[in-house]
Amino acid sequence: MEYRELGRTGEKVSVIGMGCWQIGLSKNHGDWAGEVASLRRGIELGMNLIDTAERYSAGRSEELVGEAVRDCRDDVFIATKVAPPNLHHDAVIRACKDSVRRLGVSHVDLYQVHWPDPAVPIKETMSAMEQLVRDGLVRYIGVSNFSAAETEDARAALARNEISSNQVEYALTNRSVESDILPYCVRENITLMAYSPLARGRIVGSIPADILRKYAMSPAQAMLNWVTRNEQVVAIPKASSVKHQEENASSVAVRLSAAEYDKMQQG
Ligand code: NAP
Repeated sequence: MEYRELGRTGEKVSVIGMGCWQIGLSKNHGDWAGEVASLRRGIELGMNLIDTAERYSAGRSEELVGEAVRDCRDDVFIATKVAPPNLHHDAVIRACKDSVRRLGVSHVDLYQVHWPDPAVPIKETMSAMEQLVRDGLVRYIGVSNFSAAETEDARAALARNEISSNQVEYALTNRSVESDILPYCVRENITLMAYSPLARGRIVGSIPADILRKYAMSPAQAMLNWVTRNEQVVAIPKASSVKHQEENASSVAVRLSAAEYDKMQQG
């Protein structure tokens, strides 16, 4: 596994992490052992970055992450999120305490604002985030679905801490962040955490066969390799099976050439 520094934190997170949206959905009627096993296998393979949110499966995603890391908490970097309508000061504090309880941990490594909410002053949300850092419940602060301008506002609203990451949608099939958010993150040393890097399972069928053959890669692996070709990016695919998790973990074992990345974009 390849590791990259998260923002300017000095923390090394795996280039390929594990997304946990839809982990613990009630349609599975309590049978979530496979999803927990998949997370545990990912950790074994060096994927230390785990992304969840208070919203995912009404809190059950956080509970299952907690179950997966119970005996290896210090080996992983847990990122979770607070969402509107919890962005007022006291609601942020309450939401974080609830997340920490569901996760069964003493603190969250990265606490992210899930979406911006123009109805709540960013200063108010960020002051709560800083209180959480002071109180030891959160180590680092991130945002998600923020434009470059909104990220700049969030940074300006912080007195003592930095914005370490912005989690946004980025995949071979959706490159809109390349015009504005990615260059901003590169310039300001903020990690771009790519969500839905496998296009939510709609794996691209047009990746040149010679590239897949040369590196013995599946199309999903090629997509993850491509999306993390920039040093400022880490990706958080979601895999509910051990087989997919193993495939994702080995997707960056080798790097393609710049010409091959270009060719994938044209395919
Ligand atoms: P994704 O990771 O792009 O795609 C997940 C889908 O790909 C699942 O159906 C999964 O199947 C399949 N898959 C995984 N590994 C595969 C492989 N090696 N080969 C073939 N198929 C594979 O989509 P996502 O869940 O939307 O995004 C990932 C994470 O990003 C989320 O879990 C969440 O943590 C985060 N996210 C954040 C936001 C936000 O607003 N901040 C929004 C969306 C997502 P199986 O489950 O069957 O393995």
